[in-house]
Amino acid sequence: MQSIPKHPDSDFKPSGLGFWKNENITPKQWDNFRWQLKNRVTSLNGLEKHLSLGIDERNGVLLSGDKLALSITPHFFNLIDKDNPECPIRKQVIPNIQETSSNPEELSDPCGEDSHMPVPGLVHRYPDRVLFLLTDRCASYCRYCTRSRVVSGAGETHLKTDFEQAFQYLENNKNIRDVLFSGGDPLLYADSKLEKIIKRIRDIKHIEFIRIGTRIPIFLPQRITPQLCEMLKKYHPLWMSVHTNHPRELTSEVKTALEMLANSGIPLGNQSVLLKGVNDDLLTMKTLVHKLLQCRVRPYYLYQCDLIEGSAHLRTAAAKGIELIEGLRGHTSGYAIPQFVIDAPGGGGKVPINPEYVLEKNSKQLVIRNYEGKSFIYPEPTKAVASPLDPAALLRKEN
Ligand code: SF4
Repeated sequence: MQSIPKHPDSDFKPSGLGFWKNENITPKQWDNFRWQLKNRVTSLNGLEKHLSLGIDERNGVLLSGDKLALSITPHFFNLIDKDNPECPIRKQVIPNIQETSSNPEELSDPCGEDSHMPVPGLVHRYPDRVLFLLTDRCASYCRYCTRSRVVSGAGETHLKTDFEQAFQYLENNKNIRDVLFSGGDPLLYADSKLEKIIKRIRDIKHIEFIRIGTRIPIFLPQRITPQLCEMLKKYHPLWMSVHTNHPRELTSEVKTALEMLANSGIPLGNQSVLLKGVNDDLLTMKTLVHKLLQCRVRPYYLYQCDLIEGSAHLRTAAAKGIELIEGLRGHTSGYAIPQFVIDAPGGGGKVPINPEYVLEKNSKQLVIRNYEGKSFIYPEPTKAVASPLDPAALLRKEN
């Protein structure tokens, strides 16, 4: 049997307070989400206190701040390998000068959300579900954010969710059965504020299902408190989609936070974005999906990076995503395999992209192949021929 290679980050554990170890911080402060938020790294000085930046990063910090703010929680910052300029954590949150140039195919609103907003802050693109943008703030900001046009408040466009109009729209549209809270990050709200919104949605009889899209358990696991979990579990069925891109992000603190949510009866799925130099190799992706299952999170989607302005340096070819799925299917548990999707530019919605397993098909049969490349024929149903054991035929014989 071939031995399975191990990813260097499969057992990664950050070393305690890490970059903050000489700063007179108590573990109690570190574990407090308010302290984490207050002490986020948000400036060039803050970054250079701990890291030596490359020229592209330094210029990125200086010049990209009017598009998407810089903000990194100390927890997430601690995952950066300061000796590795290609560190996959660094690439996700430290600005790069390449963000300031854009290609003709790139868009500020790549998924066409603004044109599908019947009410400010509510995106209605599919018949039975809506995306409800609760806030424009996040604990840290991802440099490839699809919603960077509004997220962080640094750009020219601002999110102006009209909550009352949104509630009325939901009450009046009986086809809507599924509401996804996103933003920004809804879990940045105080428990009481979030509960008011969830409760209001739960009071609408035709809404069957609430989902929360959040990266808080990864950026700020301290925010997942017993009080938050107690509040959320009153409103089932409530599901949560988290966002993890690299196995290094699944630290023991994150695992504890995810377990608390799972123990509160919240089914957890993960959405990853395929990013160049972050997770575009099979060993990293396989380690990520295996670690997610250990944290009781089902890998749900792997997104081809949207055509966001200034994201070319982080985008891979879509063929890379197909190759990764091909490398997972048959080689690991089915539960570990996310669906690779492209969010169709301009608002077409998510389109599943799969490796080709059907080699030929006609009305009589399908020629399919398995993960080893072996082909098989699956015959389509034909008109039934009475078998000697056919009960009707047996009855006729007896009579
Ligand atoms: S957490 Fe989500 S909304 Fe916030 S910056 Fe990252 S991708 Fe964008």
